[in-house]
Amino acid sequence: MSRTDPEATLVNRPDFGRHLAYKAHVAVGGRRGQVITAAVATTGATADEHLLAEVLWEHRRLSRLGIPEAVADAKYGTGPNYRYLDQVGVTAFIPTTRFGNQHTGIWGREHFTWLPAEDAYLCPAGQRLRRNSNDSGTQRIRYQAPKGICLACQFRSSCAPSGRARSLDRSWALDLVEAAQARLARPLGKRRLVERKTYVEGIFGLAKELHGLRRTRFKGRRRVQIQVWLTAAAMNIKKAARRMAQTPRPAGALRLLARLSPPRPTATWFLPRPATI
Ligand code: SF4
Repeated sequence: MSRTDPEATLVNRPDFGRHLAYKAHVAVGGRRGQVITAAVATTGATADEHLLAEVLWEHRRLSRLGIPEAVADAKYGTGPNYRYLDQVGVTAFIPTTRFGNQHTGIWGREHFTWLPAEDAYLCPAGQRLRRNSNDSGTQRIRYQAPKGICLACQFRSSCAPSGRARSLDRSWALDLVEAAQARLARPLGKRRLVERKTYVEGIFGLAKELHGLRRTRFKGRRRVQIQVWLTAAAMNIKKAARRMAQTPRPAGALRLLARLSPPRPTATWFLPRPATI
């Protein structure tokens, strides 16, 4: 922990190694990612996926625009985030890399048949894995084969090498995850991911390389939040000025920018936001 800035916490990045850092979580609006509509600074220890609701809430508060679709990288593709977006009526275009088979070399869920009427999985040997536990912390239900069955099974080496009763976890959001995977496999889903990479990653790159966000200028999350807001404002103003020079009519970026309200400097700035939009 830093003795001069305790709110800067350790982050491990392949390109930078372990270092003390803050994180800037940003929402970008507009068909071509024209305007930064929300910017939230957190300590480095805050997991990205926990900020989705906060960033969308900020976007809506400042722009008063609806959110028909949310496009984000795989770090945001968690079960709770899919359920949250479903509850608030937002179509998610988020890759779902965390729902595959975690045990490499062992048969995954694709080898089992889901039996919704029985609330059970059917294994390749014809046995039923029945509901064993339901964890509200991880939002997963565990299904398990009957005790002793796997020990003598012909598929044991591929399915349950230890011989213990095989189990499978099913996320509460698995139906939503599978729907999102199907959506991302379609041309529109592929296009949305390319757009995110082009426009949103580009904005992160510009913020860090050309607008000083690679390093914080101040200590403490509150002051870093102000730096992040000012960086976003400067980038938006530059973009608006460029558009005004190009066209006499207000372009999409300008109309979107005009809707943004400045954050109000009140004591409630850093209070927890509502869990839903
Ligand atoms: S090891 Fe167990 S769960 Fe896997 S196929 Fe055999 S009986 Fe079914």
